[in-house]
Amino acid sequence: MQLSASEAFDRLKEGNLRFASDDCYRETTTSQSLRRELAEGQEPFAIILGCSDSRVPAELVFDQGLGDLFVIRVAGNIVAPSLIGSVEFAATKFGTRLVVVLGHSQCGAIEATLEAIQHPEWDQSENLCSIVDRVRPSVEGLLASELDNDPVELMRRAVRANVIASVRQLRDGSSVLESLIADDGLVVVGAEYSLETGLVDFFEGVPGNPALDTG
Ligand SMILES: [Zn+2]
Repeated sequence: MQLSASEAFDRLKEGNLRFASDDCYRETTTSQSLRRELAEGQEPFAIILGCSDSRVPAELVFDQGLGDLFVIRVAGNIVAPSLIGSVEFAATKFGTRLVVVLGHSQCGAIEATLEAIQHPEWDQSENLCSIVDRVRPSVEGLLASELDNDPVELMRRAVRANVIASVRQLRDGSSVLESLIADDGLVVVGAEYSLETGLVDFFEGVPGNPALDTG
């Protein structure tokens, strides 16, 4: 039986608290008997669209194990057609009802985008540009503001703006996801992982807390 979005949310939140307090379930989450059982099928309770950064492995930071999370990782946790397709696949195939876009502090993809905007003369590969160009629209406005003189705050705001942009693109960029959201309880939330504390701050679209929903 698949978890609801808010049950899945609570499970992630509890797992992250275990991780941050160094109280993880390590042995049970990767046991060989669980591996054998899961060979019969999977029912991941959450879909995570996270950054490829080596310091933010979704299963570890949420203290989850084999079969728990359907994880999509790409630098800058951007949304592009193949990534939307991956979310659609898991949501329809496994009935997973919670999608988390997981950004993080000190994200290199966000830094690279800010630098690319500040130094348009710098050469970047076309492939890297395809990532930067997806981050650019959500952070460009910040650079034009007074934050230009405050690099720490600029990065903080840029990471969050990029997460919110990805959340909106998932909510609005797919008729499949739109109908699951409208009729079947699918929820897309945005979160930021802190490299410094190990804690995940869910700041966008949290189930049961519409006040936090800026979407
Ligand atoms: Zn990153």
